[in-house]
Amino acid sequence: MAKVQGLKCRECGREYAVEPMHVCEFCFGPLEVVYNYDEIRKNISREKIEEGPKSLWRYVDLLPVEEPRVGLSAGFTPLRKAENLGKALGLENLYIKDDSVNHPTLSFKDRVVSVALSKAVEFGFDTAACASTGNLANSVASHSAQAGLQCFVFIPANLESQKIFGSLVFAPTVVAVEGTYDDVNRLCSEIANELQWAFVNINIRPFYAEGSKTLAFEVVEQLGWRVPDAVVAPAASGSLITKIWKGLQEFLKVGLIDELKTRVYGAQAEGCSPIAKAWKEGRDYIIPVKPNTIAKSIAIGNPADGIYALQVTKESRGDWETATDEEIVEGIKLLAETEGIFTETAGGTTVAVLKKLVQRGALRKDELVVAYITGNGYKTMEVLEGHLRETVHIRPTLADFKEKILARV
Ligand SMILES: *Cc1c(COP(=O)(O)O)cnc(C)c1O
Ligand SMILES: [Zn+2]
Repeated sequence: MAKVQGLKCRECGREYAVEPMHVCEFCFGPLEVVYNYDEIRKNISREKIEEGPKSLWRYVDLLPVEEPRVGLSAGFTPLRKAENLGKALGLENLYIKDDSVNHPTLSFKDRVVSVALSKAVEFGFDTAACASTGNLANSVASHSAQAGLQCFVFIPANLESQKIFGSLVFAPTVVAVEGTYDDVNRLCSEIANELQWAFVNINIRPFYAEGSKTLAFEVVEQLGWRVPDAVVAPAASGSLITKIWKGLQEFLKVGLIDELKTRVYGAQAEGCSPIAKAWKEGRDYIIPVKPNTIAKSIAIGNPADGIYALQVTKESRGDWETATDEEIVEGIKLLAETEGIFTETAGGTTVAVLKKLVQRGALRKDELVVAYITGNGYKTMEVLEGHLRETVHIRPTLADFKEKILARV
C-alpha cells in the first residue's frame, strides 16, 4: 500500500486524490496530505533514518513525494547548543536550529520548495511560480534553475534589495507588484486559476507545507531522539508552526518517540501580528491587518494557516508573543554577538520573543528549549544601518594605528 492516502479537507473531512489542488470544492477549506501511518510505521526506524542522506530526504517516508527530484541537499542544518545566548537570557538548555545556512538559498524555505518542486516535476509541470515575501522567491528561483523549469516569482515591490537580487541571479521573471504580500497572493490565486503553473504555495501548497515538518523531525533526531520542552518559531502564514506540530505528532504515531510534551510558541512582529493578536484577544479567527514592520519575510496580514497555528498553540499549551522593530534589531545583534550567527529580521523576531518569554516566566531556566532561526542576515542588511559600531578609518601608518585604535581601546 502507498504511504500517501490522498488529500483531505481540514474543515469537512472530504477526501481527494493526490492532485495539484489546495482547496475543498465543497467548503473551500484547505486540503492536507493524509498518510497511511500503519504502513509507514512498519517501514520506518531510527536506524534507517540515521543511515539516510544528510538532507531532509532522510525523512522521505513521511514526505508526499515518491522520489526526490530537486533540492537534494536541503535540510539537515546544524542544531547548536547556545551556551552564550542561554547565559544572556537565563536558559541552561537552549538550542538554536540554524536554517540561516540552509542549502541552497539560506532560509527554511529550501525545505518547502525542495518538496513542492519535486512534487511539481512528478506532476509533470514545466513552469514554477510563487507569491513571496522574499525568501520563497529566492528558493523557487534557485530550484527552478536546478530543475530546468520556467520560473515566475511575484513579490511586493518594496522588498529588501538583497532579497530581490537573490532571486534575479537565477534569471526567473521577477514580478514586483505594487501592493502588500496579501495583494500579491490574491493576484497569484487568480493567475493560478487560469494557467497550468505550479504555484508552490497555492495549488501545490498541501505538498509544499509538508516540507516544514522536517524542522521538527531534525530537531528530535539531533537531540538524540528527545523532544524539546518548548520550541519558539516565527509565523507568517502560520504554516511552519502548524507543520512543526504535525511533524512531532507523526513521530509519535509511527513510534519514533514515545511521548510528546512540547509547547509551541509563536513569534510575530508587532507591526504584523494578526495571529498573536487573535490569541491575546481570545479569538479563534483572524482579523487581517496591513503590515508595517521591518520583518518583511514574515509580514503576512491575512495568514492562510493562522487559525490552525492558533489551534497548535492551544493544543500544545504554548503561547504567542510579539517584538517591535527596535526589539527585532536588538535580537539580530544579540544572536550575532553571543553565538556568531547572523540572522535576518525573522530570526531577530524569534530571539526577541524568546527573551520576553523567559522574562515573563513562560520558559523555565532548566527546560530544553529550541529556537528556530529561519533566515540569513546577509539578505536584510539594510535594517542594521545606523545600529552597529562604525568602522574606524586610518592611514596605512603605525602612528595612525596607535593613535586612532590603540589609544581608544
Ligand atoms: C516564510 C518564512 C517564515 C514563516 O513561514 P510561514 O510558514 O508562512 O509561517 C519564517 N521565517 C522566514 C525567514 C521565512 O522566510
Ligand atoms: Zn471541505
